[in-house]
Amino acid sequence: MGPRAFGSANGMSGSLCQTQSKAMSSRIAGFCCVRCGANYPTDIEIDSKGCPSCQLSAPANLQPVYKQSRSSGQPQRHDPQGSLWRHASSLPCTFEDAVSLGEGDTPLLQAPTIGQALGVPNLFIKDEGRNPTWSHKDRFSTVAVSVARNQGARVIATASSGNAGASLAAYAARAGLECIVATFAGTAGPMLSQIRKYGAVVLPLVNKMDRWALLAEAASRLGWFVTSPCHSPVVGSHPIGIEGYKTMAYEIVEQSNGEVPDWCVMPVCYGDALSGLWLGFKELFALGHIDRLPKLVAAEVHGSLSDALARGVDRLDEQEMLFETLAVSIGTPRSTYQALKALRESSGRAVPVNNDSLLDLQKQLARSEGIFAELASVTPFAAIHELRKQEVISANDRVVAVVTASGLKDLDRSPDASETHQTFQTIEDAWQSLSSRQNMLG
Ligand SMILES: [Zn+2]
Repeated sequence: MGPRAFGSANGMSGSLCQTQSKAMSSRIAGFCCVRCGANYPTDIEIDSKGCPSCQLSAPANLQPVYKQSRSSGQPQRHDPQGSLWRHASSLPCTFEDAVSLGEGDTPLLQAPTIGQALGVPNLFIKDEGRNPTWSHKDRFSTVAVSVARNQGARVIATASSGNAGASLAAYAARAGLECIVATFAGTAGPMLSQIRKYGAVVLPLVNKMDRWALLAEAASRLGWFVTSPCHSPVVGSHPIGIEGYKTMAYEIVEQSNGEVPDWCVMPVCYGDALSGLWLGFKELFALGHIDRLPKLVAAEVHGSLSDALARGVDRLDEQEMLFETLAVSIGTPRSTYQALKALRESSGRAVPVNNDSLLDLQKQLARSEGIFAELASVTPFAAIHELRKQEVISANDRVVAVVTASGLKDLDRSPDASETHQTFQTIEDAWQSLSSRQNMLG
């Protein structure tokens, strides 16, 4: 396939594609900066650089502004398939135009055993591993791909070779669109296989940063709809997709019979989901559906949010990466202003999490609650443990931990060393192997 085949519909250029977006995104009145509040028209180029005014001082993402006040958070329409599109009236796209695989509506499970162990018996787990591609990224992809298709884009692209790439590839396949996943040489593992299975074109580049340059050029020259960051410093992913994460807040409140958790804790990389979660809670609050807001906690790896919170600044510094994290999905040296804002506004916290406890927590969660989570997805439990120890989180607090992805996603990083793979020659040998497990033989 040549460049033409990867252009937008009818070979439209990027600017034509944007012009069309004006008509298509009828719900969106424009965009505004999450930091300075500056307003921009609907046809502003979403080029991953964020707000033009803030770019030099403290780069910040944009967010869509809707045309009229909507009754956010309350399901408007019965979706017979069951999906987050029950909340279509709060999203940038209609139910009828949605590209859906039945995402969202994941369970909020009480987790008393691990909760007790962490000193927070009122612990609940929002299990996002139940989404169609086994991660929370489906909330982003369903909205981004729906809008992209409506705008006439023919090619969707991302620089993620992890959960976001796998999710985007699936939704592009569902929508009948081409998907390009720019990755870097040496990327391996189950997620890359997953991306390929959905039929996405994988472009491995030796230099990690070249991925962004390639996507930025393709967006401006060929009209590719790029959902991931493709500019440094990162401000976050495409603002349209981030809207999908608001539905996590709607569901948490709905599943708690209107009760608001004291704390919501989640793994944070660029903070798209944290930012969307916060937007969702704020919408519910503004509309009077809830009477208070939760405090948010970012479980991070290299500490850029903790550092910016401590220093009271808006511009996040790139942190030195002192170790190779097992939580690869969130291993960025620098998060974003949108995440910082959500933490500040909610009087929340950021907790750096190292590798020490991750494998144990993964095992503990699986064995005590029956939930097998990706290694990045168990970082919230390490953060809860730390904040409980510091008595920031109280024993009686209601805490929601967002488990963002399934443990099958990074199985190559968490082999079970205790497994012997022994095969027994006789039934007697098998009985013999159970002799130490008296609780099974009584
Ligand atoms: Zn700004």
